[in-house]
Amino acid sequence: MRVHIIYTGGTIGMVDSPHGLVPGADLEGWLDSLLAGTPLARSVTVTSLAPLIDSSNATPLSWQAIVDDLHAHAAADPQTAFVILHGTDTMAYTSAALSYALTDLSVPVVITGSQLPLGELGSDAAANVTGALQAATSGRHSGVALFFGHRLLAGNRVTKSSSWAFTGFESPNAAPLATTGAPWQWAQAASPGIGWKDAAPYTRHDVVVIDLVPGITAARLEALLTPLPEAVILRAFGVGNVPSQEPGLTDVVERVIAAGTAVIMTSQCHESQVLLGHYEAGDALARSGAVGSRDMTLEAAYAKTQFLLSQGLAGDDLAHWMGRSIAGELSQ
Ligand code: ASP
Repeated sequence: MRVHIIYTGGTIGMVDSPHGLVPGADLEGWLDSLLAGTPLARSVTVTSLAPLIDSSNATPLSWQAIVDDLHAHAAADPQTAFVILHGTDTMAYTSAALSYALTDLSVPVVITGSQLPLGELGSDAAANVTGALQAATSGRHSGVALFFGHRLLAGNRVTKSSSWAFTGFESPNAAPLATTGAPWQWAQAASPGIGWKDAAPYTRHDVVVIDLVPGITAARLEALLTPLPEAVILRAFGVGNVPSQEPGLTDVVERVIAAGTAVIMTSQCHESQVLLGHYEAGDALARSGAVGSRDMTLEAAYAKTQFLLSQGLAGDDLAHWMGRSIAGELSQ
């Protein structure tokens, strides 16, 4: 099976500079030595996206550059499997974004990176890249997944949980797809979602993410929402509760929704299931048309919002799609 690797940047290929780590390692030379003598030695091609970036600089346009390269290579050979090398900081956003854009393609796509550059003693780069290649060529997986620290996780259920641990990522609301070992342990594949035909390319939209905190005032929330963004993701407490007794606070949200901006309620809890009507403290928002993100991660909800805006949806139409699984991003 042919594997196409899309190298986007990230610590994996970084080297020291006077101002900190920057892309600059000979990634293709390193890959050649890693794969020498293995069955993959002659079946791997590589695209390095220009410019290589620290993933903190990624935008929806960077997601689209990956989608475009992937489509070009899948069109040339539909049997191709894909591995994407990416910085860990925003990898979970990119993997969720790719999952929505690629439901039309039933090819394996596995994204990975590393906590230490490939040239450092003790780096996790080799283990993560070989694991991603194994997963991509296993014949057991299709769709977008993230391989890191010996686990294959659904690409739209993940969150970066550590800036240093080799496990790196968690999938708080969905079990791992596979765990490495001899042999690998594979779980039952989760429902793939209803898909999206002919997705329009990602464009960049004004989506704000706001953490509610004890003591936030209506005036502060209003100021944060002025001018009105295209969509709002409010990170509330627990199952989606807000300070409903704070004078004017829920009125601000009601005005935003009435003006045609979708309001999506997520939770600050790592493991969460947002149920807006469960407490009086969330009910007012549910009645005003805010939509709960159920058990999506923030990354999955944010990338989905950008995806839906890129498809031309807004307001109530966008809110409606938040509760439907496009690519397996929420539990049924
Ligand atoms: N800042 C790096 C990046 O996300 C971190 C990493 O790759 O681990 O590009």
